[in-house]
Amino acid sequence: VTQSHRIEAVLLDVGGTLIECRPSAAELYASTLSRWGPSVRGEEVEPIFRAAWEQATQAHPPGLDRYHELKGGEREWWGALLRRVLGELGHPAPWEPVLDELFEAFSSPELWHVYPEVHEVLVELRRRGLRLGVLSNWDSRLPALLARLDLAAYFDAVLVSALEGIEKPAPEIFERAAARLRADPRVCLHAGDSPLDDVRGAEAAGVFAVLVDREWRFGDGIRRIRDLRGLYDFL
Ligand SMILES: [Mg+2]
Repeated sequence: VTQSHRIEAVLLDVGGTLIECRPSAAELYASTLSRWGPSVRGEEVEPIFRAAWEQATQAHPPGLDRYHELKGGEREWWGALLRRVLGELGHPAPWEPVLDELFEAFSSPELWHVYPEVHEVLVELRRRGLRLGVLSNWDSRLPALLARLDLAAYFDAVLVSALEGIEKPAPEIFERAAARLRADPRVCLHAGDSPLDDVRGAEAAGVFAVLVDREWRFGDGIRRIRDLRGLYDFL
């Protein structure tokens, strides 16, 4: 998709785009498991967590919301992920109380950090009169988290996969986001850190896409920015 229209609305991904979790998910799993059994290090958990996450993400049809397919909903999705990690590690911790602790920890705003340029860029985009939306593959806790991180007020619409019943890269969720911002997809820009979910999904819906490549690890074949200040070049 080339940029042939003046941008009127900006859609933003959340994880890796507006916020990150520190310590990392793998480190948090490791410290929690170490309290419920043998000590385990974040570096041991990292590749296992990543593989389990990818497996869980790919195990359901692309575009359909992952949390709706399991009877237990979100908690069961995270429980299945945890059981897979425990199994791969051969760690004897009881999964249910560990899941309770992890669920609690990931709900806490203390774990999440807003990238340094984000507030300043969102203020500037609003000053320029752009309509702003969040478009995230996340569970139902996201709106409360955005509010507690002082991010919610910038946005005219927040679309969360678990609440929409559909997730990126399905073009329908981009079309829905554009409609909620009362904009044609062709005057929307979407920025996010996943080449598949964010860039390919947006382009399939006719939305102008920009990859947020904070570690500058993707090739030059893709339109990318180092942080959100790079958006100004496209507006
Ligand atoms: Mg992301």
